[in-house]
Amino acid sequence: MRLTVVGCSGSGPGPKSPASCYLVEHDGFRLLLDLGNGSFGALLGLADPDTVDALFLTHLHADHCLDVAPFVVWHRYSGRSSGRRVPLFAPEGADARLALAYDGDGATLTDVFDFVVVTPGRFEIGPFAVETARTDHPVECHAVRLTAGGRSLVYTGDTGPCSRVVDLARGADVLLAEAAHPPGPDLPKGLHLTGREAGEHAAAAGVGRLLLTHVPAWVDEIGQLFAASAVFSETELVRPGATYEI
Ligand SMILES: [Zn+2]
Ligand SMILES: [Zn+2]
Repeated sequence: MRLTVVGCSGSGPGPKSPASCYLVEHDGFRLLLDLGNGSFGALLGLADPDTVDALFLTHLHADHCLDVAPFVVWHRYSGRSSGRRVPLFAPEGADARLALAYDGDGATLTDVFDFVVVTPGRFEIGPFAVETARTDHPVECHAVRLTAGGRSLVYTGDTGPCSRVVDLARGADVLLAEAAHPPGPDLPKGLHLTGREAGEHAAAAGVGRLLLTHVPAWVDEIGQLFAASAVFSETELVRPGATYEI
């Protein structure tokens, strides 16, 4: 399985990276996890959008889904789309919400997507065995575990500290975890992880490696890395365009 970071800036695009988007490939199948603000442009530099076989949106916050709009524009108007509809896995209501994000009249996007409602559980996307778990976040958000070829990747989406995410990540080869909150005494609950909490989740789950992501542009990313590394040594910060063999 190969993971390519298309965008990793937390909570919105930053000066060095678009918002959340990850390309996961196995056996010629291409799955996008999230499609946040600015990520479609970076995707164009990494992959032909027509080769994206499926989309999985963890949740419907803008920094994880808004570049569905240029994805639709590309499929409708570039003249390069094969016209094959793309399965789009997302929480309930994504069809209406994304249609309104695209156009004020809310006209359906079903010419481009086959919408599939995600609930916590197990299913398959192409060659990937998929397991999802509800995270601790103000809107419905699903962390996702992908297994293929005997290897596994878990992506937290957005979450506050959450035992369900630890359970989902148990024994995974790679945990791609958000670390949006800087350390502090009065952090809002049920929203994001600190760097240290991301490290604690990796340690509790016994994963092989922790990839830190979703650090906002206004948070010190090296501080997040140090805080996570203090509790889980096999930790690194992801970079846009970086590729990881899992
Ligand atoms: Zn986010
Ligand atoms: Zn969010």
